[in-house]
Amino acid sequence: MPTQIAVIGGGAAGIFAAVTTAEHNPSAAVTVFEATGEPLDKVRISGGGRCNVTHHCFDPAILIGNYPRGGRELRGPFSHFQPRDTIEWFARRGVTLKAESDGRMFPTTDSSATIINCLLDSSRTAGVSIKLNARVKHVGLDDSGSFVLSTHDSGQHRFDRVLIATGNSPNGHRFAERLGHTIVPAVPSLFTFKVNDPRLSGLSGVSFDRVEATLYAGETVMRQTGPMLITHWGLSGPAILKLSAWGARALHDTRYKASLEINFLLNRAPDDVSAAISAERTEHGKRKVHAHPLFNLPRRYWEQLTAHADIEKSTTWSTLSKTQATSLISELAAARFEIRGKGVFKEEFVTCGGVSLREIDFRTMQSRIRPGLFFAGEILDIDGVTGGFNFQSAWTTGFLAGRAMATL
Ligand SMILES: Cc1cc2nc3c(=O)[nH]c(=O)nc-3n(C[C@H](O)[C@H](O)[C@H](O)COP(=O)(O)OP(=O)(O)OC[C@H]3O[C@@H](n4cnc5c(N)ncnc54)[C@H](O)[C@@H]3O)c2cc1C
Repeated sequence: MPTQIAVIGGGAAGIFAAVTTAEHNPSAAVTVFEATGEPLDKVRISGGGRCNVTHHCFDPAILIGNYPRGGRELRGPFSHFQPRDTIEWFARRGVTLKAESDGRMFPTTDSSATIINCLLDSSRTAGVSIKLNARVKHVGLDDSGSFVLSTHDSGQHRFDRVLIATGNSPNGHRFAERLGHTIVPAVPSLFTFKVNDPRLSGLSGVSFDRVEATLYAGETVMRQTGPMLITHWGLSGPAILKLSAWGARALHDTRYKASLEINFLLNRAPDDVSAAISAERTEHGKRKVHAHPLFNLPRRYWEQLTAHADIEKSTTWSTLSKTQATSLISELAAARFEIRGKGVFKEEFVTCGGVSLREIDFRTMQSRIRPGLFFAGEILDIDGVTGGFNFQSAWTTGFLAGRAMATL
């Protein structure tokens, strides 16, 4: 009788694990149970249909800095399977990945179908059985210690090893809980900030190359740098998305009411700003302040910023008062905005929370509580910032779980 292995969930982590198990142990019988009729559905819609498979970062010590939760635990796993291995894995199967200037990696076809076809072809070749429309309703144990899975239509199935890879679905959390695991409550991560402020009004689409954004949410204070974008509803862009991910719990606890401070003058001291203003006074005293942005700030934003600093349209650099100059400096170095809620980021919906990482052996992704039970992917309390890090965590944890299920 071959070793019977079940994978619950036909997403990125589940399919990757199933292929790995079947390739490492061709005599094992590997069955994937997928609730829907479409395996890898999130891969299909990911990265705007292009699938941002991984990130061009090959140093595990740097890579883990992109995981607000789970970075420390992923340090070891990344020394076994990291983005370089992902690239090689797909290349061996005929799929080439390319890196964009910001490090995100996509298939050269720019189509998520390439990744889906590769994973499904690999499953077929390795002899993995994928059962579609097979929602698992219950996972229990029989007297001999085997796992018993119930599906709504085809009754009960016995397995020696089970991997739960159900993503952020609450029923996966329930299975884990019934088998003795602790679930860290789920809260959203990776979202934009709703900000209703006259400085942003009508400026949707205006972007800033690099700002320093500081979030004040309850007792939590955190800072990120990067590009920022004004949207219809408020603020987005890498600096904001990183804050939303790192501050996910604090923002949830404050019901998404928090303050944000933006420094548009990265690497410049307030003295530099005073010096720039003095230079304008001497060299362009007759110029209207509101019409001449400093430090390459977008002109439309500058106009609203100067109005917010109580600088009338008629004010010239030479008539700018000391008080106005002070407010201008503070608008540039520490502009304060009130966050009033959270918005969506291109429908990319990532949650933090899930199976507590203390209960997992990260060498094998096996449960420390229930031998023979494994976890991979988003069901774990791991989440990455945008850029391909979430799929990389699914490939890495799927690979380690798959290899361990094949060999333990
Ligand atoms: C719109 C969008 C775009 C994204 N783009 C990117 C991107 O470009 N790059 C990136 O790194 N990350 C991206 N992400 C995040 C990424 O998709 C997830 O981190 C990743 O899919 C997690 O993989 P997973 O296998 O753990 O879970 P999932 O992909 O969610 O798979 C879980 C599977 O389990 C199945 N399932 C659930 N319950 C049961 C059950 N009881 N029985 C049987 N099956 C069950 C589900 O139907 C599903 O197919 C994106 C997410 C979204 C929503």
